[in-house]
Amino acid sequence: MSAPQVITLSNVSKSFRIGSASVVAVKAVDLRIPQGQFISVLGPSGCGKSTLLRMLASLDEPTTGQVSVWGARPADLASRHQLGVAFQDHALLPWLTIAQNIAMPFRIAGRRIDHAHVAALIELVGLSGFAQARPSQLSGGMRQRASIARALALNPSLLLLDEPFGALDAVTRRHMNIELQRIWLEHKLTTVLVTHSVDEAVFLADRVIVMSGRPGEVIRDVTIDFPRPRAPDLMREPAFHALVDELTLCLSPGGEGHQH
Ligand code: ADP
Ligand code: MG
Repeated sequence: MSAPQVITLSNVSKSFRIGSASVVAVKAVDLRIPQGQFISVLGPSGCGKSTLLRMLASLDEPTTGQVSVWGARPADLASRHQLGVAFQDHALLPWLTIAQNIAMPFRIAGRRIDHAHVAALIELVGLSGFAQARPSQLSGGMRQRASIARALALNPSLLLLDEPFGALDAVTRRHMNIELQRIWLEHKLTTVLVTHSVDEAVFLADRVIVMSGRPGEVIRDVTIDFPRPRAPDLMREPAFHALVDELTLCLSPGGEGHQH
């Protein structure tokens, strides 16, 4: 029997204890993500986006409900090294060079380092010439790009990105969006991107999920069917603006996400 080609979150909730109080971070999320889909997650700060990704990455356990990745537990996927993660809090190791950091997943998996692949990734994220630099010698944006390269090192089948472009200037961010689309089109790797940028969410995704303020629930699930490859010109089209406006409204106070 072949594994189901889908990621499912079934009635997933997550609560945290803070002292004697309990905070519900994520509430009753039901999602089906088909293999190869690029999904963007939007929502106000503190609504549980990172928690959702952490549960997919097996870094957190749901309090109730179930997460299944292609019929397996997230932890199984992680132990098979099929998971690529670039999280805000996944810092590079300061004592290693950029090349060594990007090669780290090979060491963790006990595999021989594919130096050509590491070099190609360094070029891909625009860090040529910095392979031997230490993280402290790079800007915040450059470090973010290095962590994306590290996430891609083992050709993961699931890529989880938590606000990976937050510290980038607009031009670099645009460039990284195009590059990420290119990588995704080449490999069709299932990708979940958490972002604050509605433009970025719509530009990159097959589907955009909007979460409400805490406790985070899915309040919108929109299919984005602009043809690919998408060029930056798309961002000037009225249909693109209409979608961005609609989703922005959904996120803003008084918008759909804040009505009771
Ligand atoms: P987002 O990524 O959408 O900004 P998070 O998923 O980081 O939100 O957090 C959602 C909520 O869960 C927040 O209220 C946060 O304080 C709480 N939370 C997250 N992680 C923990 C933790 N390890 N312990 C206690 N509370 C947490
Ligand atoms: Mg977060």
